Amino acid sequence: MTQPDCLFCRIVAGEIPATVVRETETTLAFRDIAPKAPVHVLVIPKEHYADVAALGAGDPALAGEVLATVADVAAAEGLDGTGFRVIFNTGASVGQTVFHAHAHVLGGVEMDGDLTG
Ligand code: 5GP
Ligand code: ZN
Repeated sequence: MTQPDCLFCRIVAGEIPATVVRETETTLAFRDIAPKAPVHVLVIPKEHYADVAALGAGDPALAGEVLATVADVAAAEGLDGTGFRVIFNTGASVGQTVFHAHAHVLGGVEMDGDLTG
């Protein structure tokens, strides 16, 4: 299921270009257009879910496949030894701007533990 007006569905469809770093049958990973860290990759299910809550409730196996791709991307980017942060913004009030579930994989820089900024 895709939504024609969804930015990330359009990236999955190849209608909008992206720097893809990994692709599986069910997931896609590509670099964020406005990186917040030296490594900033977005990992999405190819199927449209509005956010990680809808994804986890609607297709837990697919949610697991997204996490498996997160792990593969982190290793490929050399972050598995140093550490990385995974963020799923869920809702406009915490900064979600694209309503197609996506994991931000961030790394390559020291981060403190403040998650509320
Ligand atoms: P959110 O704020 O919804 O958690 O994250 C959306 C992310 O998508 C932002 O970090 C933003 O920079 C990124 N983004 C927005 N438009 C595009 C685009 O056209 N291509 C790519 N690669 N990233 C995008
Ligand atoms: Zn979508």
